[in-house]
Amino acid sequence: MDFLLTDEQKMIAETARKVGDRFGLDYWRKLDAENTFPREFWAAVCEAGLCGVALPEEYGGAGLGMLEMALIVEALSAGGGGSTIGQLFMINPIFGGVSIAKFGTPKMKKELLPKIISGEINCCMALTEPDAGSNSLEIKTFATGHGNGWRLNGRKIWITGAEAAQKMLVIARTTKVQEVKRRTEGLSMFLVDVERKGLTYSSIEKLGTNTLSSCNIFFEDVDVDGDELVGSLDGGWYELLDVLNTERIVTTAGLVGAAELAFRIAIDYAKERRVFGNRPIAEYQSLQFPFAQAFAEIECARLMNYKAASLFDRGLPYGTEANVGKLIASQAASSGIEHAMQTMGGMGYAKETHLERLWRDARLFRFAPISEQMILNFIAMQNLGLPRSY
Ligand SMILES: Cc1cc2nc3c(=O)[nH]c(=O)nc-3n(C[C@H](O)[C@H](O)[C@H](O)COP(=O)(O)OP(=O)(O)OC[C@H]3O[C@@H](n4cnc5c(N)ncnc54)[C@H](O)[C@@H]3O)c2cc1C
Repeated sequence: MDFLLTDEQKMIAETARKVGDRFGLDYWRKLDAENTFPREFWAAVCEAGLCGVALPEEYGGAGLGMLEMALIVEALSAGGGGSTIGQLFMINPIFGGVSIAKFGTPKMKKELLPKIISGEINCCMALTEPDAGSNSLEIKTFATGHGNGWRLNGRKIWITGAEAAQKMLVIARTTKVQEVKRRTEGLSMFLVDVERKGLTYSSIEKLGTNTLSSCNIFFEDVDVDGDELVGSLDGGWYELLDVLNTERIVTTAGLVGAAELAFRIAIDYAKERRVFGNRPIAEYQSLQFPFAQAFAEIECARLMNYKAASLFDRGLPYGTEANVGKLIASQAASSGIEHAMQTMGGMGYAKETHLERLWRDARLFRFAPISEQMILNFIAMQNLGLPRSY
């Protein structure tokens, strides 16, 4: 077991750190206030070759792995972007890139991977529906066979990045639930144009992660071409799961970076801030211990995430590690950033110190993309052999 990063991995993380520093906190504060997609930032990420790090070399990627992607996301998040950076990587190199690289047709790979890697196009992923969140197998969006392709009808909710995307990975039923043996069968993935007749969207007002809008999506007789199927017809659920667990890896990396950033802001403040006399508040043990506790948990999440990533990169099962890392990271980042705000008193609540954005954004990841309860359900059944409780 080798815990040391290679020189190449250190260099990649350093490159990401420099891109992150070039933009910094004020850039993210402005875009957050304006609810604007971080176009210049994403262009710089792609320009530096960071979007394609885990995608195949023949399409312009670096052919490296998820471990390198995790290092990049951590560094960009800690550089100012915060935990929402995980989502940017989720929608583009993961749901766009990894899904196509693993399951797409040769035509999709040739046409789309270079554009995703260069940042020419953005992607998004549409699984959740108003009545199907944690219970994703309840989705009702249906693709009915039509000519050489399908016709899509249904509704999705919370689809992040849709307004800035050209392509949407849609998960739909292709065989009625009554006609399959298991509910995991009869689902398929399609890659459709966001701007297509019958597909409409509207953004949802939300607490945070404001640089990536999240949308309601409506499909009304949307035509899908025969060659827009990603992976196998009716077998899409198993293929999607393989990709979904990589989204946990970038989520954890984003949270680890965000916690690092928030702790730095609050600790720098606490070293200067004096209340009741001459001692800076950083000297108070009651302020130090929660940081130390959160640091310990974040370090464990980071390590577990690297393990998940390197298992994925070796083609080995990594679901438990990816879920455990995400569970601990989301709880430790939430409580750690909450403590950072407490440490700064009123200034933690002011927009100018940036902490409130990190606090708002990190909160999301306790229930998305998978909730902590559903991870505990997974661990109870998969790792402890306990009966299903729901
Ligand atoms: C800002 C944002 C961005 C998102 N982006 C995307 C996206 O891009 N694409 C996409 O497809 N989806 C997206 N989602 C959806 C996200 O994945 C879901 O919100 C998440 O899976 C939870 O589903 P839900 O909101 O329907 O909650 P519910 O499933 O209604 O759950 C509500 C609560 O009940 C608990 N619960 C449910 N079942 C159990 C059980 N069996 N045992 C114990 N507790 C349980 C949950 O843990 C949760 O706390 C996004 C959501 C948000 C808020």
